Amino acid sequence: MKALQEKIEKEGVILSETVLKVNSFLNHQIDPFLMQEIGKEFAKRFQKDGITKILTLESSGIAPSMMTALELNVPLVFARKKKSLTLNEGVLTAKVYSFTKQEENEITVSGEFLHKDDRVLVIDDFLANGQAALGLIDIVREAGAEFVGLGIVIEKVFQNGGQMLREKGIRIESLAPIRSLENGEVSFAKEEEL
Ligand code: 5GP
Repeated sequence: MKALQEKIEKEGVILSETVLKVNSFLNHQIDPFLMQEIGKEFAKRFQKDGITKILTLESSGIAPSMMTALELNVPLVFARKKKSLTLNEGVLTAKVYSFTKQEENEITVSGEFLHKDDRVLVIDDFLANGQAALGLIDIVREAGAEFVGLGIVIEKVFQNGGQMLREKGIRIESLAPIRSLENGEVSFAKEEEL
């Protein structure tokens, strides 16, 4: 997606050869106009898939997912990273090792909001090693709902998550696939190469 890739080139901060900081428009401050464009793009790609619900992970997945949910006219559910006292009955859980925090979290969703007849689109801000995506997909399956596909705002293709998930037959729509962050430069991959 051109506008997103241009924004990353302009405002993304390369913290190391593996970590990109996009706090100015996605992970801290949020650019609502760009989020709207992202929502339209995901909605276009999943328009014909009969999606009934979107699932993401708090907090950075919420903004792009919200705009997609609005476009597809479906509810958005976000998994929580911390157990809430108000979440107790029929809780769905998965363990997720966090790439950025280097710790394991248990993510939870109330069974109230995912049903057997749901067709679920999972969205996240970044795809690195694929652990967050796997945890979210586990939760969809635990609910007995159907997992349809994965929408990723920024995929770091040089890490192994995308390949591992594609090898499992998972459909991934990736709006800004990054081939490398080496030499202080963001180099994008073509979607056809994924
Ligand atoms: P994974 O589970 O695929 O290894 O990592 C995905 C999660 O880690 C995302 O939900 C995202 O929050 C975080 N993440 C992974 N890589 C990056 C990165 O380069 N920059 C930022 N800002 N977050 C990342």
